Amino acid sequence: MMGIFNDLESYGHEQVVFFHDKESGLKAIIGIHSTVLGPALGGCRMWNYADEAAAVRDVLRLSRGMTYKAAVAGLNLGGGKAVIIGDARTQKTDEMMAAFGRAVESVGGRYITAEDVGMSVKDIDLIRNFTKHAVGGSNEGGSGDPSVMTAFGVFQGMKAALKHVGLGGGSFDGLKVAVQGVGNVGYHLCSYLSAAGAKLIITDIYPKSVDRIVQEFGAEVVSPDEIYSVECDIFAPCALGAILNNRTIPQLKCKIVAGSANNQLETDSDGAALQAKGIVYAPDYAINAGGLINVAAELDGYNPELVNQKVSKIYQTIEDILTRAAKEGILPHQAADRLAEQRLDEVRKSANAPKSFQNPNSRNVDQTKRLVIAK
Ligand code: NAD
Repeated sequence: MMGIFNDLESYGHEQVVFFHDKESGLKAIIGIHSTVLGPALGGCRMWNYADEAAAVRDVLRLSRGMTYKAAVAGLNLGGGKAVIIGDARTQKTDEMMAAFGRAVESVGGRYITAEDVGMSVKDIDLIRNFTKHAVGGSNEGGSGDPSVMTAFGVFQGMKAALKHVGLGGGSFDGLKVAVQGVGNVGYHLCSYLSAAGAKLIITDIYPKSVDRIVQEFGAEVVSPDEIYSVECDIFAPCALGAILNNRTIPQLKCKIVAGSANNQLETDSDGAALQAKGIVYAPDYAINAGGLINVAAELDGYNPELVNQKVSKIYQTIEDILTRAAKEGILPHQAADRLAEQRLDEVRKSANAPKSFQNPNSRNVDQTKRLVIAK
């Protein structure tokens, strides 16, 4: 854990807060990467980390990712994330959730929590009794399951990628899409694709999910290992991260990779390997922002029509990223990063923009003021 300030400096974090509650056994970390665009919003992950350093690494990496995701999605939100150390199935208690809610409240609105791996809508409902700063619940105007909007956004991004490579002429009719993982997002994505006339090739390690897709939409089924090498127009990773790597990329026979999974590229050089094969990659955090847009909409009073309009704009975002990458001779994931950094820089420089999120209840202190010490 030594050298944490070095990590904060290299990731560019504003604040990391450690929480401990003796009675409930809560061990939580809130990572606030940036509040330049607004309060830092991001889910809470409960995970049985191998050690504390792994939990710190995860919260730093995930919260930084949220800054970029919100910036590219055009949201006035910063990037944050929380982790709770422990096994969500055996160690989670209502007391622990209450303690976590109090922890979130204590940060005064600089961080807004939501669900992530190991946390449920029910947990958020409970947490909301202890803090105003939690979204994604089912009660009091909650937006509920985000996966429909995530899938809708991926579907829009796919259309933009198809246009970019000149495939389909604006239609999915007869195009082959290979979907890896037909869970929450994968199911809804298959529904959109099937309605649009695409041919589905699917895989999952959970047979019940596969059967449901076959019955409802019709699909060719392959084993989890075979999904990489199927001939298709689009490969849609909707299960795991780091699945684009030096073992899988050589097998791919698609023209586009566009799916919902987070952190799809194992390393930066895998982006280059895709490009070298002539495969167009729709950057993960730009194409899968539908869920974040959905949950963030709660902050302004949830309006499904407005959410639909905002998520539809993922088409434009992917088009802009792919065009920029081609024009500047860079990789699509680098173009997405530049887009995010550009927006953050513009807001930082803008005279009217908030320097960083401030609690409306706090005293009005000029944060740009510098301390001058008389010698
Ligand atoms: P999920 O758990 O409902 O679905 C994932 C599916 O992948 C499951 O059916 C699982 O059995 C399957 N799977 C796991 N390992 C596999 C393997 N090796 N081969 C094939 N299938 C495998 O999760 P989800 O909510 O649908 O999310 C899917 C992905 O999208 C995740 O990476 C998630 O982080 C990301 N994501 C989800 C959302 C959202 O709104 N749910 C938003 C942004 C990103």
